[in-house]
Amino acid sequence: MNSYDAEVYRNFLLASGWLETDQINDALLVMVNTCAVRQKSVDKAKNFILRLQHLKKERSFYVGLTGCASSLDDFEKLIKKGSVDFYHGPLNAMEVPESFKEFTGNLYSCSNKITATYQKKSSISAYLPIIHGCNSFCSYCIVPLVRGREISIPFDILHKTIRQGVSEGIKEWLLLGQNVNHYGMDFKQKITFSSLMNKIASIDGVLRLDFITSHPKEFEEDLLKVMQDHPTIYRHFHLPLQSGDDEILLRMKRGYTVARYESVIEKIRHYFPNASLTTDIIVGFPGETAKSFDNTMQFIEKIKFDTVYAAVYSHRPGTLSSTFPDILNPEYSKKQLQELLDMQKNIARIQLKRFLNSTNEVFILSSKGAHTYEGKTLEEKSIIVSSTHELKAGDLAKVSIESIKKGVLHGSVLV
Ligand code: SF4
Repeated sequence: MNSYDAEVYRNFLLASGWLETDQINDALLVMVNTCAVRQKSVDKAKNFILRLQHLKKERSFYVGLTGCASSLDDFEKLIKKGSVDFYHGPLNAMEVPESFKEFTGNLYSCSNKITATYQKKSSISAYLPIIHGCNSFCSYCIVPLVRGREISIPFDILHKTIRQGVSEGIKEWLLLGQNVNHYGMDFKQKITFSSLMNKIASIDGVLRLDFITSHPKEFEEDLLKVMQDHPTIYRHFHLPLQSGDDEILLRMKRGYTVARYESVIEKIRHYFPNASLTTDIIVGFPGETAKSFDNTMQFIEKIKFDTVYAAVYSHRPGTLSSTFPDILNPEYSKKQLQELLDMQKNIARIQLKRFLNSTNEVFILSSKGAHTYEGKTLEEKSIIVSSTHELKAGDLAKVSIESIKKGVLHGSVLV
């Protein structure tokens, strides 16, 4: 979502006649896109603005502040001080805010309108939000406070946008939402996420389809049935676990138990035995004990994820967990985090071997030199492919997977 917001601003400015530069000294406007999920990223943005404030003493330019953290108290002082000339929260309205258009219009009079709601990741791939905001209120999470309540985008708008993207060469779509499984719950006539996936996967020209993020409490078997009917949907599931301990999950207000999570994984593997599974883990949540951490470690070892994105608990003001008294020593949590990452590294290495000596339909992303290409398997694994005939980005190729080098699959195109 954060990358999507940055692209919306970027494309708006480019469409309005602005030129992009990576040299701050050349810039008339510097946009700072923030993330509120961890304090570390908020601090990074604050330090960056302080640096800009210093540069502003030497020459005149404008600073725009946007993203989830821009409405936090952390930035109030900087805004009051005039270090920031424009600020706006995340783009829940799917569009560049009118106030920003006015602001940039005054700096450079152009008024082109954004017409597309998707943002290109590359010439063949695009992000497309299907639902904004979140209604879940996990006890540690600041997202519902900064992005607001859920708003799903009606299918007819999504359909029109995808058709437009397809005509411009987009073949791979990444559907975004804080919780995609809540898609359509805010409509008068409810529609489920799985029926949306069925409709989108049926659009001509959609060669690959991905979605993030699923919530284990709402994950339904219907989606797996739809995926079975559409081999264009990646067999990749990002299901944030957060903790492998029921007591901690309850304190996190995640709405599921470890047993429920495991039953979801069993269903996924029943339909797609080779599916790739990724997850998020928070280490050092208030009240976590050696025993609860050990339960998480054991569960990770049992499930055998392809990738685990783990981070030490970050205290976010305004969230329920920020009122919990039993905060852990971050140094202790950092050691536990390392222990977890070391274990996962080994699991990932072993897990990758399941693809050896199999064939896969690979989506080609780019050329890597003579007869060599980079692509993605149906399980969204990176793969280096050699081919005797020429391929281009967006092609699909039947590939025999032969080896693993430095943690990446390698294979050859079958002719
Ligand atoms: S589901 Fe929970 S963790 Fe995810 S965005 Fe919503 S509140 Fe945050």
